[in-house]
Amino acid sequence: MRITDVTTFILGARDARSVSASDGHLLVKVETDDGLTGWGEAFTAPAIIQMIIEAGYARERRSGLKALLVGEDPLDTDALWHRMAEGTLMLGRDGVAMHAMAAIDLALWDIKGKAAGQPVHALLGGARRDRVACYATHTLGDTLDETVGHAKALVERGFRAVKFGWLPKGNGADEDEAVVRALRQAVGPDIKLLIDCGMYWDVDTALERTRRFAPYDIYWFEESLRAYDVQGYARLRRESDLKITAGEMAATAGELGRLVDADAVDVLQIELTQTGLTPAMAIAAAANKRGIAIVNHHYVLDVNLAASLHFLAAVDAIDLCETPGNQNPVRDAIARNPPRPDADGMIAVPTAPGLGIDIDEAAVRRFAVGD
Ligand SMILES: [Mg+2]
Repeated sequence: MRITDVTTFILGARDARSVSASDGHLLVKVETDDGLTGWGEAFTAPAIIQMIIEAGYARERRSGLKALLVGEDPLDTDALWHRMAEGTLMLGRDGVAMHAMAAIDLALWDIKGKAAGQPVHALLGGARRDRVACYATHTLGDTLDETVGHAKALVERGFRAVKFGWLPKGNGADEDEAVVRALRQAVGPDIKLLIDCGMYWDVDTALERTRRFAPYDIYWFEESLRAYDVQGYARLRRESDLKITAGEMAATAGELGRLVDADAVDVLQIELTQTGLTPAMAIAAAANKRGIAIVNHHYVLDVNLAASLHFLAAVDAIDLCETPGNQNPVRDAIARNPPRPDADGMIAVPTAPGLGIDIDEAAVRRFAVGD
């Protein structure tokens, strides 16, 4: 089997600053000479990803990805990962080229599963679970009342765990505590409450907030420090009783490995549209070996959610599955069988071959922004 084409679709408005609503999505379709197709997805500014994929062959180690892929065997995901990494070595490595590679890698795994007639989790070593408990992520409202309304609505939809971001609200510890208190009161005592801190604090401030939030039974405390502050995270984990979570900014085994090697988190976030599936199992295994659980990161479309579910099914130690709590008409339109939580806040791992979601290409083209 050979790859015959790689096509990118930017969905919604071409506004790279907005990723949370109906704009700013990129899907990639990989086609083969035997008729199988795979779909991948990127999270980063779509116009940049599109350029990295479609840039054409420039010269050694600074090529567009499509030029490296057409004519190759799509089933050899390891070889193609290395081919893309080598082909973008001068412009890639830890950043946006890795995100473009990840989008294609998801599509290749989709093809690989379809070719084998098996769901992707079977190719990742088999499922350890057939459904996972999920949490819904939502942004804080502009007012406390609005925030409380969002929290209550998520609980009414059946979620047993909710995450709100991003603190701080700007006026110091009292205001931050008021937000957390209002959230806990809104969801009641039985719902897991996760707080996303948006990387705004230094370690001393973060530690002070963990003490402030202690009465409100916080399930985890996410991204309170800058992405590269590995030593800060390590100290935070040592000195705080809260579960410390980070990793969603990272794309590579090297960057995520620094958090793992420093014992800097309790739960490592892995955003598959940045890391790709090919390296992700090894990253997760290394984290698990040090007693660190895995959660996916997900705020976009269902290609990523489906890939995340296969991944979370196959990883040994996980801690919840992230799902978006916001509304998104693109998300709701492009997959015919999107994975969705049931009334108990659980999501079934897809069982159909490949990633197991059926992309409606007519809907994709309807939302596609022309060049
Ligand atoms: Mg986050």
